[in-house]
Amino acid sequence: MSNPFKLSVSDIATGLTEPVDTSGPSPVRWGGNMLAVEEGAPVEVHGSLSNVGEAVMANVDVSGHATGTCALCLQEITTEFRYTIGDVFGFSSDFISGEDGEEDEEPLLVSEDMVDITQLVVDEAGLNAPFSPVCANYGQSCQEDTPAPDGVSEEVEQEEKPDPRWAALQKFKDAAAEEDAADEGESEGQEG
Ligand SMILES: [Zn+2]
Repeated sequence: MSNPFKLSVSDIATGLTEPVDTSGPSPVRWGGNMLAVEEGAPVEVHGSLSNVGEAVMANVDVSGHATGTCALCLQEITTEFRYTIGDVFGFSSDFISGEDGEEDEEPLLVSEDMVDITQLVVDEAGLNAPFSPVCANYGQSCQEDTPAPDGVSEEVEQEEKPDPRWAALQKFKDAAAEEDAADEGESEGQEG
């Protein structure tokens, strides 16, 4: 089973750039606590790898089907995550230490003719994935009785038991609404 986050660089001659188009099951979970691409979910990687002699420059878009829950109503949310990964992998650690050496950082290296972008994806998604995803950001409405932001909601399910006081009031409102509807029905008689 091929790991879509491990990209072979063995075929890329020095000075050349080769396209990357691969897909497969994600080797890790990436995203936030409440919304993430799960391990094993299908992911795609598209972009390019450039062999610049001492290093490989990776520039790829990683996308995957993210699933999770709304922070307000815990309804399921599904969306697509897409992050751009751009980094440089040295062929040997000399490449990194020759430059201004940030010794603390683990240098990215080409290993066994492969570059492994797994950790880069995890980091990028961890930084950018929504911390508190809510339904409204994903084209759906929260299940609870929260006001719809832009009047998209149709008739909300009326599961809750009506308060008796309001039930009495509702009779009057229904009667009034019927009269209104009767009045309006006449003026709206258009046909295409
Ligand atoms: Zn919600």
